Amino acid sequence: MNASQLFETVTSLPLQVLIVVISIVFLSRFVDRAATNCRLWTVGFVAILGLIAAAFLLPHLRLFNDGSRLSESAARTMFALQVWIIKALVVVWIIGFTFVLIRRLGRIIVLTQFFSQRCRVMTDEEIATLPLDGQDELPKQLRLLVSLEKHGPFCWQLQHPTIVLPSCLLREDDGVIRHVLLHELEHLRTNHPLQHFLQGICNALLWFHPAIWWAARNAELTREFHCDEVAAKAGTTIASYLRTLAKIAEQTRCAPTCTLAFGRRKSAIIRRTEHLVSRIESARGQCSSRDQRRASLAIGCLFLVVLVVSQLWLPVNVLASSRTRLSPWPTWTAEMLHDFGVSVRDYERFDARHDLNECLSDDGN
Ligand SMILES: [Zn+2]
Repeated sequence: MNASQLFETVTSLPLQVLIVVISIVFLSRFVDRAATNCRLWTVGFVAILGLIAAAFLLPHLRLFNDGSRLSESAARTMFALQVWIIKALVVVWIIGFTFVLIRRLGRIIVLTQFFSQRCRVMTDEEIATLPLDGQDELPKQLRLLVSLEKHGPFCWQLQHPTIVLPSCLLREDDGVIRHVLLHELEHLRTNHPLQHFLQGICNALLWFHPAIWWAARNAELTREFHCDEVAAKAGTTIASYLRTLAKIAEQTRCAPTCTLAFGRRKSAIIRRTEHLVSRIESARGQCSSRDQRRASLAIGCLFLVVLVVSQLWLPVNVLASSRTRLSPWPTWTAEMLHDFGVSVRDYERFDARHDLNECLSDDGN
């Protein structure tokens, strides 16, 4: 990819991601069911990763290509400027990406040490006394750990699904323990650790993008809404679940980072409480066929948005040929396809401003 193609990518991709995130937030309001909204966020994070891959590996349409309006000297100046901007952006991105990776790796090491040094595996006798019944589905190879430290309950999954309960929680009454267990089990049952992982990859790659921070906060809250709803419904009443939520918040909200904590932020606890209260007021129970239709429609709309957005590219590539609406294939995928005997165009088509291609040789790619 030359500097102009990279400039086109780094200006268009954040816009594409922003539109996808806004669409998910909008569709979430239309659906208003936490379970579907969780699915929307998972599809959204996969779609964002797909957009990133497509941007660097596939050609795209140039719907608003008006680069030919620039004079050749203006285009040359623009290209030189783009080369410098790209160089600076690449350096800044690598620094930020490395920082995010090191921080995440450090957190995983701290968490692994926490599991091995400050937790113990729950004994069979303790597990037998947990207030779970035969209908509560437990994930395979579930590890139940008891922590000796004072923190909120949380779950995590890398190799094995893991639920960590602070020892002080085990002294609470069965209702509270059951609520917490059902909440954490629902996280594991609905693959929330996988969604959290996808969210982490998006966050690492697009660490600079406020839309990704916004998406992460919304997805986290949606996951909690869903698990709260399931745990509250399975318990006695929503009011008793609200008491559990308040009790956990009162004891402590801290928990190791990069995990699915029961309640980390005060503002999130307040919003979860409001959400549950709204469920009581609207007396929404079972998923109706109307809700299911809305869910399918929302997911279909999201796919459509992603498809359209993937072809939304800003007309900032000064080397773009005016003779075609399709960009050339990026060199790395074109070379791979050539190796397999598939011939694809990986160069700009000849046009009146083809002399600009000299810029490329001057710049040495
Ligand atoms: Zn949770």
